[in-house]
Amino acid sequence: MCQPFCEKAPPRRRRFVLDKTMRPSLLDPFFAPLAALPGVGPKTAKAFDRLLRENARVIDLLFHAPVDLVDNRLSPTIADAPIDRHVVFAARVVEHRNQARRGGAPFTVLVEDETADVALVFFRTNPDWVARALPVGEIRWIAGDLKLWNGYRQIAHPQIYDAAAYQKLRAFEPVYGLTEGLHQRNVAKAVEAALSRAPQVPEWLAANTARRLDGLAFVEALRAVHAPAKLADLSPEAPARKRLAYDELLAQQLALRLVRARMRHVKGLSARGDGRIAAKIEAALPWSLTNAQRAALKDIRADMAREEKMLRLLQGDVGSGKTIVALLAMATAVESGRQAALMAPTEILARQHFERMAPLAETAGMRLALVTGRDRPAERRASLEGLRDGAIDIAVGTHALVQEGVAFRDLALAVVDEQHRFGVHQRLALGEKGAAADVLVMTATPIPRTLVLSYFGDMDVSNLTEKPAGRTPVKTVTMPLERIGELVARVGAAMEQGARCYWVCPLVEENETLDLAAASARYEDLRQHFGARVGLVHGQMKGKDKDAAMVAFQRGETQLLVATTVIEVGVDVPEATIMVIEHAERFGLAQLHQLRGRVGRGAGQSSCILLYKGPLGETAKARLSILRESDDGFRIAEEDLRLRGEGEILGKRQSGAPGFHFADLAVHAGLLRLARDEAAAALDADPALADETGRALRLLLYIFGQDEAAPLLRAG
Ligand code: ADP
Ligand code: MG
Repeated sequence: MCQPFCEKAPPRRRRFVLDKTMRPSLLDPFFAPLAALPGVGPKTAKAFDRLLRENARVIDLLFHAPVDLVDNRLSPTIADAPIDRHVVFAARVVEHRNQARRGGAPFTVLVEDETADVALVFFRTNPDWVARALPVGEIRWIAGDLKLWNGYRQIAHPQIYDAAAYQKLRAFEPVYGLTEGLHQRNVAKAVEAALSRAPQVPEWLAANTARRLDGLAFVEALRAVHAPAKLADLSPEAPARKRLAYDELLAQQLALRLVRARMRHVKGLSARGDGRIAAKIEAALPWSLTNAQRAALKDIRADMAREEKMLRLLQGDVGSGKTIVALLAMATAVESGRQAALMAPTEILARQHFERMAPLAETAGMRLALVTGRDRPAERRASLEGLRDGAIDIAVGTHALVQEGVAFRDLALAVVDEQHRFGVHQRLALGEKGAAADVLVMTATPIPRTLVLSYFGDMDVSNLTEKPAGRTPVKTVTMPLERIGELVARVGAAMEQGARCYWVCPLVEENETLDLAAASARYEDLRQHFGARVGLVHGQMKGKDKDAAMVAFQRGETQLLVATTVIEVGVDVPEATIMVIEHAERFGLAQLHQLRGRVGRGAGQSSCILLYKGPLGETAKARLSILRESDDGFRIAEEDLRLRGEGEILGKRQSGAPGFHFADLAVHAGLLRLARDEAAAALDADPALADETGRALRLLLYIFGQDEAAPLLRAG
């Protein structure tokens, strides 16, 4: 099959397309199954699969870096050996205490040197074996974790070496993360075998970058990572880890650029509006657009008019007004005689978008359909039909939009709202519903610049830096849970004045059932106080009931809405002015900021009460005080990154977030910038990755699995 883009490719500048079947055989040893290593039987291989990934390969093992190290060098004396660390010392065996071993009493062997003694204890061991290994009167080398037990030194299940065996020990041994069925020595042995088979790969780094990274070659760095000789070697700043982190980032930046180049290369169709629909929508708005909104629209429209595919991120803090930007951009698509789609992460949000947009769209003459997983079959058939034949201009929906069976006559623009909830694949899948659709992703959790680069490469970014006028900042206070009675009274008084209030209950250990129990209990409790004015919405409710609860709150039929975090994203009830977040200490900063953004949408003074359960740890304290001080989503996101590391900021619930083995963006932001520049320079100089460095860079891509970013690579 001819790739859709090859006919348009300028003949001499062919681009490199990753393909697993083209993997150079030089790399085969890295991609061999682990069972191919000596000493790894089928059972051990299974355990490795659990530890590393399904069908783990040699390279996965090599990327499993040690988390600690053991120092086998002789401790000077027992008296000097540090407690609670792994120690090794020589000692004379003094005595076996093999009393009647009732009730699981351990077999104990006392050993000593001239400074002190240590009890070696063995639970449920064969006493004959112990007696043979530790003959009274002999010197043995003992290795293990030294503990103090009732004031006496003790080591449970030490390793025992005679002089000859001790000579053969490595001075330092790495300590690996394990899983059931694996021991340190299984991993160490397999790693050793893997390293001995590692092929020599050519250097892919530019000479000056390699120098900056201490001149360590890739395989050398792998060896060094698995042979730590001091604690500093385990740090992400250690030269070997830095080199591998850099390689990992470089591979990712290259892959992102390749995808991007391909997307750009697909001749998009130019979508040029004449402004007639957008003008009607703007005229119907009770306010005028902010300058930031205008600027973002200008960027988007310029991209859409170009005959290249757009891939743009629209970042705007909560309440900055992204929705209207999306609607006006979609209007441009419709003006050009084509279609648009908007995908939201939750049912509630999709419905809210639909309900907000429908009246505006209809005044302007656009036809909208809602597509979720919950449509009645007849409705669904009608919507799908309309999208196919073009009777419908705009589809608003959930991920149901990217399912099979949904087809457009001519999709020009795909908008993905609150994109951090979607995986890379879903995000781009919507764009694939059109032959050459432009893609606009909108994010409310401002993503720190370092993360944008890492997740989106050189994606274009528009920022809504300015919030609509007339907003009063939300007053934020913290309050210990013990004072909840006082809070309930205050909320009650505000409700008497007509106030509307969200009351958010947290996720409990990511367990939906417990989560729900907490929210239901609070709901019952608040109903005791306020009766029918209290509503409840949570993730496990039927969609219909969820809608009903939201609508009742929107209309003011209920004034207090108890919710789990389902309301976190995007919900817009401008009349709500109070946000209570229970167990605020369990939420991440960015999430708290999101939740707080649900209030302060109208002109009135809003407040956010962070109820916490003390005592607070240092990090929790820091989080809550940042939130009290700042209303700037970007600053909050940066702080969040600093306090939590990038893994968490996008949320564990997110699927498709690329995990790194070595790169840690909280530490390696500088490396990321360097990698981005190097990737750009390499591809500018050699877009087909065909010259010597280019061919080496291809190896890098395979090694870091970037050929498996298939959804990404297919998204052209
Ligand atoms: P978000 O960026 O969080 O998705 P929304 O698009 O939901 O924000 O907008 C938040 C609120 O601000 C909505 O009620 C919306 O109608 C309103 N809004 C958007 N743009 C403006 C503007 N230029 N002036 C005044 N209000 C605006
Ligand atoms: Mg929104």
